[in-house]
Amino acid sequence: MSHYLAERWVDFVRGLLSEEERAAMKRHLDEGCEPCRREMDVLQAMRNFARVEAGAEPPADAVRMARAIYVPPPRPEGALRRLMVRLVFDSFAEPAMAGVRQSGAAGQQMGFEAGPYYIDLRLQGEPDSNRVALAGQIVRREEPNVAMQGLIVALQAGRKVVTETVSNEFGEFSLEFFAGKNHRLRISLPQEGIEVIVPFDARPEGGPEAA
Ligand SMILES: [Zn+2]
Repeated sequence: MSHYLAERWVDFVRGLLSEEERAAMKRHLDEGCEPCRREMDVLQAMRNFARVEAGAEPPADAVRMARAIYVPPPRPEGALRRLMVRLVFDSFAEPAMAGVRQSGAAGQQMGFEAGPYYIDLRLQGEPDSNRVALAGQIVRREEPNVAMQGLIVALQAGRKVVTETVSNEFGEFSLEFFAGKNHRLRISLPQEGIEVIVPFDARPEGGPEAA
């Protein structure tokens, strides 16, 4: 069975498709495709959440300033219980799907599940460099309205923390770093007493995987 890429489901939930496309994708769901149904549900929940929150959004300047002065609290090593993730979607692993936009230029998208959380990662290599831009989001699958802001998101290469950021009110975060293997994203949820570890390889733009 062929599936639709997450980007198609984004367009689907945003109502940007033609009647025919929409009908075909609806049929695919009605035929009982579980992975696509799950993808669509998550995106739908995110969209509903974003729509509800849009009216209550603080000015961009205030958000930028808050982030600039935010100092992560000290984090005792090993104090948080680790939650391992399960890869449920990888745009690079499914090249022959229906309705696929050409990958490469579009970058790589991966979806992970960890307990009650869903983590979406988009990796985009920067042209003519070994740098990679990552945009991600963490949501609670069953309760997408639970705010996920202020979570510390650290990128590790091996044991070393390469860069760190903080999630915004939608659980979104972005980071830049050098391509390489054995990267780990570590999202701390101190309120829950857990941290989510997301292992992945970050390939440079179009090139082979970095050593
Ligand atoms: Zn499907």
